[in-house]
Amino acid sequence: MSDLSGHLPLRVKLNGAALVNNWRALDRLSGAAKAGAAVKANGYGLGAVEVATRLIDAGCPHFFVAHWREAEELSAHIPATAISVLNGVLPEDRALATSLGARPVLNSTRQVKLWQSWDGGGCDVMIDTGMNRLGIAAADWSADFVAGLDLHILMSHLASADTDVTQNVAQHEAFMEMSAGVVCRARSLANSAGIALGADYHFDMTRPGLALYGGLARPELGDHITQVAQPQAQVLQVRALKPGDKLGYNALFEADRPMTAAVVAIGYADGYLRSFTNAGQCFANGKSLPVLGRVSMDLTIIDVSAAPDLQEGDWVDVDYDLARASAQSGLSPYELLTGMGQRMQRLWV
Ligand SMILES: *Cc1c(COP(=O)(O)O)cnc(C)c1O
Repeated sequence: MSDLSGHLPLRVKLNGAALVNNWRALDRLSGAAKAGAAVKANGYGLGAVEVATRLIDAGCPHFFVAHWREAEELSAHIPATAISVLNGVLPEDRALATSLGARPVLNSTRQVKLWQSWDGGGCDVMIDTGMNRLGIAAADWSADFVAGLDLHILMSHLASADTDVTQNVAQHEAFMEMSAGVVCRARSLANSAGIALGADYHFDMTRPGLALYGGLARPELGDHITQVAQPQAQVLQVRALKPGDKLGYNALFEADRPMTAAVVAIGYADGYLRSFTNAGQCFANGKSLPVLGRVSMDLTIIDVSAAPDLQEGDWVDVDYDLARASAQSGLSPYELLTGMGQRMQRLWV
């Protein structure tokens, strides 16, 4: 970066050791299966290249992205053969999909035929076991149908692994039935939450995403997973408030006593959505600093009465404990991570 590049008053600190430890824990919890890594949506917002290069060094054998563009970008940094593209192939993908070396996850009978007509080589296949999202439907499926493919991973995806519902058992049974007799190198069913459902769900490879990045997909993971992302923003202004002072757009907070407020450099354009209005908090020196009033595009006002020494230029931690921030905002941990804006500097520590 040149000396002239502008200073960014907000950043997200990313803990590389925590990321690697989370993968190691998930790999261990996957038992005889190997844990891969879902790095779609730019590594759940953290940065797919930074995530994947760290995890491949730690021994992670395989990575899952959504789009061919994502595979293309990642393949400049890790071997393309270690990448699968979950969203399959469209006719428009032909040139890249047949030259890059990454594998498509074929999701429909049409995609299987397309891939065969392109003589595309190694591939993965997704079968639908009850989620009715992507995957070849049971009605269209037979083991013979993929007999001619160079099939690496035969996979399915769990819809409700984060909860204890019979759908998990039903999907597991369907996967056992549909995958019986299929010639493939590996079978894969579990996402982060699925890993915690036990050995029956592990097969040959697991595909954690959320838990790599600190999300507790199920409470059982609580002892093994630590937070990776910590957003921080700088104080741009400190102001003394009198009773009756109104704050921010639409005056959604009104002081009922003398208070000290600080304006910090993060807003909904950075993924700190308006659902944190009067609900989120920041931390400085271990003190909770609640959000006051409406979050705006580039700015959020917080109560710093508990940290009266805070000054312009000081950094505060934005509370992004995924479970707590999720409860405060109504956003899922997935949305919190993937929503972190491009304006936030990614700072790996
Ligand atoms: C996103 C995704 C995963 C990872 O899911 P998490 O819940 O984040 O662990 C695994 N498999 C497929 C098919 C996915 O789309």
